Amino acid sequence: MFIEQGFQNQHSGWIEVICGSMFSGKTEELIRRLNRSKIANMQVAIFKPAIDTRYHEHQLVSHDAKKTNAIPVESALEILSKIETADVIGIDEAQFFDDQLIEVAAQLAKMGKRVIIAGLDMDYLGKPYGPMPGLLATANFITKLHAVCMKCGGLAGYSYRITNQDEQLVLGEKQHYEARCRNCFQL
Ligand code: ADP
Ligand code: MG
Repeated sequence: MFIEQGFQNQHSGWIEVICGSMFSGKTEELIRRLNRSKIANMQVAIFKPAIDTRYHEHQLVSHDAKKTNAIPVESALEILSKIETADVIGIDEAQFFDDQLIEVAAQLAKMGKRVIIAGLDMDYLGKPYGPMPGLLATANFITKLHAVCMKCGGLAGYSYRITNQDEQLVLGEKQHYEARCRNCFQL
């Protein structure tokens, strides 16, 4: 892929953002890119917000049960103090971080790191989620993934909440959310 080829010889680092709805394969894609970095003998550090304990405290786990170890952090700033000698920094569930993540990602790229960030671009109301708009604006590369709409089988970009809670953050899986396309996402 052009990201691995063209950018590997750059002096500065860069930021990749993987976005999309729930079940679109963001965590899978993040794990795939990080595994390839490990194969290339790069040192990898992986972070997730401490708040997200759905599957496991110290692991990223995709809906398809792909796993990798991850360091839980309370804030975006904490990432800077924990990267040690890593060349590649992976961050999952970026929507749960504060806006400082935008500055932290830029700083890591300036230090020469490859920064790969995955997160929900929209919340359950279809509104931009947390620091994601700023990350998408400042990224060098963006990948928008789609899930399968659970009503019509089309391309889903929305995470529809099937329960009636109205807080922005409700940690959950298939018992709380389903992927839906624009037409089937009726609020
Ligand atoms: P994300 O991190 O975007 O929530 P994951 O990478 O954890 O997604 O999971 C993607 C996997 O979820 C798919 O490979 C598939 O096995 C499963 N899956 C469950 N529901 C759907 C759906 N509606 N559309 C696509 N994949 C789904
Ligand atoms: Mg995920």
